[in-house]
Order: sequence, then structure tokens, then C-alpha cells
Amino acid sequence: MATTDAETPPPAVRLSGLTYDYPDGRRALDGVSLEIAPGESTALVGPNGAGKSTLLLHLNGLLPGRRWSGRRSAPAVWIDGLDAAHDAVQVRRKVGLLFQDPDDQLFSTTVLEDVAFGPLNLGLAADEARRLALECLERVDLADAADRAPHRLSFGERKRVCLAGVLACRPSVLALDEPTANLDPRGRRRFLRLIASLAATKVIATHDLEMVLEVCPRTILLDAGRVVADGPSRRILDDETLLEAHGLERPLSLLIGRRDGSAS
Ligand code: ADP
Repeated sequence: MATTDAETPPPAVRLSGLTYDYPDGRRALDGVSLEIAPGESTALVGPNGAGKSTLLLHLNGLLPGRRWSGRRSAPAVWIDGLDAAHDAVQVRRKVGLLFQDPDDQLFSTTVLEDVAFGPLNLGLAADEARRLALECLERVDLADAADRAPHRLSFGERKRVCLAGVLACRPSVLALDEPTANLDPRGRRRFLRLIASLAATKVIATHDLEMVLEVCPRTILLDAGRVVADGPSRRILDDETLLEAHGLERPLSLLIGRRDGSAS
């Protein structure tokens, strides 16, 4: 018997045969199909150029990917059951995208203004947006920096400001592009703890396979725009032959047998 919508929530993310060519003709995604359940933490791994960032950009409708069948196109991206092409505005509200480089995301004169920009843009009153922004800055341990200029903060702090800005929009899906890249060990650990503490559905594109083992029970391996493996992180990241075939290496903790399988 078919299950009703009331009983089963739709997947947080559903891609069906998603194909995308950049305007110069380069195919970045080639028939990607996958589903991610609400609350799941999923890593997207793969060599440079595999299509990870392009996939994240599709989650909040920044790129108009379609499912191609012959000469006709059909929806390819759904977020919480909404077609990203049809309900673009609602989908953009649902998905918080954290760019790899914080400087692609920060533009206001003060940290508080930057974090409040999203909620203001979503129609919240100034007071409420400010309150929410401060709450999110507290969450990332940067309430003291509210009046500072973003460009005077360290890289790690700027990254946390960006995360606060994303959280202030209260997304149900977080799309994080290389969240730990270029952070020093302490900054990385801090950011990692923060990410792990967030309840939203997470899709994390990363080369930091140790982080994957800690934060993401599931891993999807992309190469040349296609899904080549999808399963429990520990199984995929322990498969030397698979990883080598796609330009990756087993994480050190698995090589030396230290990992207890916390994100199996
Ligand atoms: P990854 O994030 O896995 O490194 P990307 O999604 O950035 O991969 O890139 C996927 C493919 O799309 C690569 O071949 C890359 O060269 C190409 N690509 C990415 N951005 C652009 C762009 N703006 N214009 C043309 N090709 C691009």
C-alpha cells in the first residue's frame, strides 16, 4: 500500500538524473541521482573537478540544471519535496550555502550587518533580524565581534561569521563547500564541532576525510560528474582500491587503525 505524505516526509534532497553543462560546454554533472533523508549528514568527496561544488550550487537553485530525456527537460532537483526550478524562492530559503572562501560571502561594513542581511532580506523586521543575528553570532562564539569589520577578522573567524549568516536564515538543509579548508588545527576542530552540533540536513563537499569520519555517516563519491559510490563512510573510506581509482587516499586514522567507526 502506498504511504501517504503525512506519514513519510519527502527526502530533504532529491536529485534525479541531474545533468549540467557550463556555458562553455563543459559537462560538470552527468546524470546524478540521489536522495538524502531529513537530518542526514552526507559527505560529497571526489577529486578536484569531480562536480562537488557544482552539485552544491544546484541545491539552492543557483544553477539551472535539468534532467534531460531526449530533447525534453524535466525537474531534476527537489528540496523537501519542492521542485527547485519551479519553487526557486522557497527552495533558496530552505538551503543555506556556505562558500569555501568567506570573502565570497561577506560584504557589509560590520559583522552584525552581514549576519542580519539574510533575515532582513527574508522580510524580518530590523529588530528581529538583529536579535537573530546576535543569537547566531553567539552560537559561533563571535558575539564580541558584532561591531567589527569582517575584513579585519582572521580567516577562521570570517568563516564562522559566514556560518552565522547562513544559520540566521534558518535553513533546513546546509550545503557546506570545503568547510575546514585553510583552517589551522584549532580553527578546524572548532568548526568541526560546530558543524556536528547543527541539527539541519548537511551536505558537505570536502577533501577532509578525517572530518567525514567524524561528522558524516554517509559518503557519496563523485568523479567526472557521476556518482561512483554511495554508502557508509567507513566502508567507502576504507576501500583503498576505490579511493585510488578516483584520486583519493585512505584517511590516516583508518590506515593506522585508530578510528573506532564513530561515523560508520
Ligand atoms: P569540484 O568542486 O569537485 O572540484 P567543480 O564542480 O568545481 O568540481 O567542477 C566540475 C567541472 O566543471 C570541472 O571540470 C570544472 O573545470 C568545471 N567548471 C567549474 N566551474 C566552471 C565554470 N564557471 N565554467 C566552466 N566550467 C566550470
